[in-house]
Amino acid sequence: MTNRPSQRLTDRPEDAAVSSARSTEEACPPEFSPETACPDCACQENTTMAEMLRTAGMRPTRQRIALSELLFASGDRHVCAEMLHEEADAAKIPVSLATVYNTLNQFRDAGLLREVALVGTRVYFDTNMSDHQHFYVEGSGEVLDIPHGAISLSGLPQAPEGMEVAGVDVVVRLRPKASA
Ligand SMILES: [Zn+2]
Repeated sequence: MTNRPSQRLTDRPEDAAVSSARSTEEACPPEFSPETACPDCACQENTTMAEMLRTAGMRPTRQRIALSELLFASGDRHVCAEMLHEEADAAKIPVSLATVYNTLNQFRDAGLLREVALVGTRVYFDTNMSDHQHFYVEGSGEVLDIPHGAISLSGLPQAPEGMEVAGVDVVVRLRPKASA
């Protein structure tokens, strides 16, 4: 039930009308060398993250690589923009909250993150792209994985005319047990 965009594995086809404006994106060399690196390119700083971004159709800018390291370098996690912005601040990465929002949305659109549907006001992004559901801890706002297969659903409604079910998100809300 993952709906990874197909462009994840291939280069995004360039629209002729915008290709000139985006020519710097094309200029980024597949293999880094100090002579060929474009000015805003950060290929040399983390080749794993740079390669991941390039494969997803994005230019590996310094900001994107720095945020990728926070997101993907330490196992699966759930983050919202505010959390990631605080981490970037702590890591002395100069990036605005608006840019963090935009980057998370770009990563989601490129199939690197999935958006977690939740009750509450914050949008969480998940680095675990596999099919799974979530616990949500009321109060702390913590998000935890429920393994695939731990929930069975029956009696799903029929999709309205002309629509099909793209996926089902279940959020199981938790709170500490009231002491007896
Ligand atoms: Zn998850």
